[in-house]
Amino acid sequence: LLYNQVQDLKGAIRVYCRVRPFLPGQSNGQSTVDYIGENGDMMIVNPLKHGRDSRRVFSFNKVFGTTVTQEQIYADTQPLIRSVLDGYNVCIFAYGQTGSGKTYTMSGPDLTTEDTWGVNYRALGDLFHISKERSDSIKYEVFVQMIEIYNEQVRDLLVTDGSNRRYPLSSVLSYVSSLTRYTLDIRNNSQMNGINVPDAFLVPVTCTQDVLDLMRIGQKNRAVGATALNERSSRSHSVLTVHVRGRELVSNSILRGCLHLVDLAGSERVDKSEAVGERLKEAQHINRSLSALGDVISALAQKSPHIPYRNSKLTQVLQDSLGGHAKTLMFVHINPELNAFGETISTLKFAERVS
Ligand code: ADP
Ligand code: MG
Repeated sequence: LLYNQVQDLKGAIRVYCRVRPFLPGQSNGQSTVDYIGENGDMMIVNPLKHGRDSRRVFSFNKVFGTTVTQEQIYADTQPLIRSVLDGYNVCIFAYGQTGSGKTYTMSGPDLTTEDTWGVNYRALGDLFHISKERSDSIKYEVFVQMIEIYNEQVRDLLVTDGSNRRYPLSSVLSYVSSLTRYTLDIRNNSQMNGINVPDAFLVPVTCTQDVLDLMRIGQKNRAVGATALNERSSRSHSVLTVHVRGRELVSNSILRGCLHLVDLAGSERVDKSEAVGERLKEAQHINRSLSALGDVISALAQKSPHIPYRNSKLTQVLQDSLGGHAKTLMFVHINPELNAFGETISTLKFAERVS
């Protein structure tokens, strides 16, 4: 308990850095990560440069090296997940350039091997597990939404006909064939703390298998808008929202908690001289929304009286889960390859600014 209180006093924003390993075929590469210290320090080096610009030290709450497993990553995430069942709102972000490991951390490389499941599945599994443990005193219900934000438009990845209902899982499955994609409004719904896209499917789930089924649908729908050249998932933010409602059996009082698991669009800067048309538009939307997110988190960290939530769809969707009593964890991802040095530095500078 004391540990938790200390953590809370430190502010609600935690930053973890994760360095992904070299991939097969890149194994001879030289890493830009020179060392990782015990206390969340790391040094980044560009071996091709000399002098001041060639190395920098950064410091975060934790730094995870290339050998850290999904299980170990989750062990350091679990306390936040558990607090959702006590009525907290929690946001977990994956930030980094395309190919740095964001989806690996949040979802995992594939859904079939449990060992490599990411934070999403472990978190949901944990929520089901703990709610069962507490079932003598609190009756919990868990609901899931899955949206993406692409070019500042909000879309339901579980596909909806636009009506505002809670659907059972079976009805989502039956809707997949009729792929109509509506742009949804963000509306603040104070009753449903954390649910700000009320028209997106809100699906009750009771076990990890339900969640896996939903994720498959979501991933399928995410790919629909993409052309072969245009791998969409790297240019949209995906937000998996878990809404928990608990009824205390003795007092009949209701508590609500919300967990947002966010796989952000790739943070790489697109060369303005090269990007044209759709690509340029996408890049501008991504830049703007990621800096809006950075602005909100750093304003919260500095306890600024004005928090600029309204500058992007992403921060509007997450508004009541950022700041206040909410807890935020940002995973920043590093690709250790030499040719990623520039992006690595800008990723770490972003992380430094929000921590
Ligand atoms: P992003 O979502 O940031 O674009 P991915 O998560 O798709 O990046 O990762 C890019 C590639 O690197 C994938 O093939 C993924 O399986 C692999 N990868 C990423 N992180 C790790 C890791 N920690 N361990 C092993 N492989 C990883
Ligand atoms: Mg990805």
